[in-house]
Parts: sequence; C-alpha cells; structure tokens
Amino acid sequence: MIILKDRLGKTISGESISFIDTPNKEGIIIPEYIIIHFTAGRGAESSIDWLKDPTAKASAHVIIDRDGRITQMVEFNKKAWHAGRSRWADRSDFNDFSIGIELENPGKLTKVNDRYYAWFEKEYSKDVVVEAKHKHENEVSYWHSFTEKQIDSCFKVCKLLMETYKIKDILGHDDIAPHRKNDPGPAFPMVNFRAKLLGREDNTADIYKVTSNFVNVRKGPATEFDTITQLKKDTEVEFIESKLGWFYVYVLLKTAKDEEPIYGWINSDLLKKV
Ligand SMILES: [Zn+2]
Repeated sequence: MIILKDRLGKTISGESISFIDTPNKEGIIIPEYIIIHFTAGRGAESSIDWLKDPTAKASAHVIIDRDGRITQMVEFNKKAWHAGRSRWADRSDFNDFSIGIELENPGKLTKVNDRYYAWFEKEYSKDVVVEAKHKHENEVSYWHSFTEKQIDSCFKVCKLLMETYKIKDILGHDDIAPHRKNDPGPAFPMVNFRAKLLGREDNTADIYKVTSNFVNVRKGPATEFDTITQLKKDTEVEFIESKLGWFYVYVLLKTAKDEEPIYGWINSDLLKKV
C-alpha cells in the first residue's frame, strides 16, 4: 500500500483498496491527528452509501469493513466531516486537521434475556460480543468485537499516514467528543494500538481520583490561574497532559447533555491513579 497524491494505492495484488467519492468534503487540511470511529451501522456498504449522500452532511476519509477491505472517500489533504463539535487538550474542531477512519461495527449492543441487539434491532451472537466498561461510563456494557483483519488494515493505514504526514497522535472519537460519542469504545485495543504506532505508552485512558474535597480545577497550570470549578473527594478525571506538576484533565462528572464538558488543570499532588 502507498499514498500517492493523498490517495491510497495498491502495491501488491490482493490488497483491497478502492476510492468512492463523496460530495461531503470541503477545503484543504494539513493532517495532524488520526481519529478512530465505528460506523454504528448495519454494514460497511450502507455506511458508504450514507456517507456519499449529500443530506448526511457526514463523511470520513477511510472506511474499513470486517474483512479488512479499505474504501477511501476523501483525499487525506481534504476536510471530511467526521469529528463534529470536538475538543482535546488545547485543540478544538478536529475536522480542520484530522483524518477520520471509520471501522464497520454496529457499536454498543443491548442485552435482553441473554441475547444481544444493535440499536437497529439486529441480533448478534454471543461469540462476537465484548463485555467491557467504557472509560467514560460506570458500568460494564456490551460491544461488538472488531475483527483481526479490520484492526490489521487500520494499523497499516495509520502507519502509512504517519510516514506520510506529520501525525501527532491517534485518538478515539470518544476522546475528542466524550460527552456525545462512545466510538470506537472498549472493544477497540486503543492502548496497544497507540503504543505500537507512537512508540510510547497510551495516556488517554489514565483515570485519576481527586484525593480531597474542594480541589480546584484551574484555567492554567499554576495557582495564579482562575478556578473553573471545585471537585469533591473521589471525583474521577481523565488525564490528557501534564506540565510542571499539573495535570490537564477532563472531568468525568455526570452532567446534563447540553452542559459544556469540564476541562482544566489540577495540581497532580491532589490526584491518585485509579
Ligand atoms: Zn465517530
């Protein structure tokens, strides 16, 4: 596989790579991040049909089906509409500088009498179900597994993208839009995937607990910065980055859907790893 003029191409026979154009794209971007998604759909084909429909107002650069077949829909230097309202660390609006990869997967499943159903009511057998806790949720839930071929294709595409563009990080949609999105979720091996590609330990999944009451969340990494809010003992936060003994975190508080998510800086002495 190669990238030529911002499009994937085959280098050996047997590689399944195709390009299906979509009108759902605009302008030029310089890719800095890769965002992993799941389609939450019935199948790759129906997702591709949807993502080329102008009324969808959504798209992704690449779709990977369960057999590992790769379909590119947007050139890597063009803006696709996959991230929506998004924020991570000090960056926002990730469509402007990220590549979106969609993996065919129905997403979170509902368990009813030992049977598992997608939101569109299709039943999935137990052997493809992963029971795991999403890092932003408190309880275990059910997810459709990804296939090895799918993860492998995704890895190859990411590796090639990293060799071609100045990619800083690989994140989940649930990292950049934690209030709205749960993809790719706990069935995707994000920790391993990032460690292998970036050569460093994952830091998106590190959860810490606040060790006392009235802990200040501040606008910057020092006591001179204004307080955004105060947290109670045992409130959980997700680590994003550190600076001078302070952690920039996402506060894992159950808030109403229309409320803004809380991000800010906490003195790391007041946090303990969960
Ligand atoms: Zn997504």
